[in-house]
Amino acid sequence: MKAGIYNGIKQIEMKELPRPTAGDNDAVIRVVKAGICGTDVHAYLAGGDDVGIHAGSQFGHEFVGVISEIGKNVTGLRAGDRVTICPTTRRSESCGLNSTEIADMTGAFSEYVYVENARAGYNVFVLPDSLSFETGVLTEPLSVASHGVAIADLKGSEKAVVYGAGTIGLCAVAALQNKGIRDIIVSDISDSRLEVARRMGAVAFNSKDGGLIEFIKSQWGVHTGNSSEECINADVVIDCAGLPFIVNEFIDHAKTLSSLIIIAVHGKNVEISPYWVLAKELTLKGSRGYTPEDILTAIRTLDDPSCRLGEIITQVYPHSQLCRAFEQACDAGNSIKVVIDYGK
Ligand SMILES: [Zn+2]
Repeated sequence: MKAGIYNGIKQIEMKELPRPTAGDNDAVIRVVKAGICGTDVHAYLAGGDDVGIHAGSQFGHEFVGVISEIGKNVTGLRAGDRVTICPTTRRSESCGLNSTEIADMTGAFSEYVYVENARAGYNVFVLPDSLSFETGVLTEPLSVASHGVAIADLKGSEKAVVYGAGTIGLCAVAALQNKGIRDIIVSDISDSRLEVARRMGAVAFNSKDGGLIEFIKSQWGVHTGNSSEECINADVVIDCAGLPFIVNEFIDHAKTLSSLIIIAVHGKNVEISPYWVLAKELTLKGSRGYTPEDILTAIRTLDDPSCRLGEIITQVYPHSQLCRAFEQACDAGNSIKVVIDYGK
């Protein structure tokens, strides 16, 4: 099979490798479409060791495909099933890798992916016939956002602010909408990304010159807090941007009992005021990865005809142009989600 190999910064090689074979408990999946994740781009631009992608390895973890071979002990899955997987449980941790490495070296940029101890609804998920591969390929990033929305524990009538209109921020919009939430403001500094948020039904705000808090107040009114402080009328704020000012912008302007869900990876520490966290009874929650339930939620969300998340796919490249696809994915101003199409 043709396998996309990560060889270090700006080095991707297409190599001929033996096609994996399924043991009695395993599955082999022929990849149909794969998405380039921010993690993959990070490895390509800055090195992969800190994100679990080591030189000489297959990589890529967002994909959909068809089961080409299934072990005789596997129940509930058949050759020919259209599926996606949970990359973090693709192999048992006894293989010597941690779950990040297991996920990030899945090999979605290779023609076939191997799943050890394949279990339906645990590490392999059958896609409904009504869900196309074109949008099904977004299941993994949408699972990340669905987890953040799940732990926010929303009722469906809340108002939500999303920082960041990249893949995860826009996935958060779809996950919130799937929960019934209609009042969503998305903040970013890229007009083209904000345009996608708008097409998905969110209110978009370009915060390159600041002013987000005033904008939220102008849209949803001003809320007065316990200590007569002025607050924004948002129930949940989802951080999909990872910028250091966000945590304090939330604490300074949040209304009583609201929450901040941190999905983005922050590279810097910030100093916060525990006093205001107490005074406003704020919740700060971190959201890491996803559960099988989040993956099922993501599949249901994408399968809903009202879901507009397909809008985030900006370019599709054939597998033979994997390197060009990566160069495109690095051009953040002109791409959101870049997809590899193995049929092209
Ligand atoms: Zn990803």
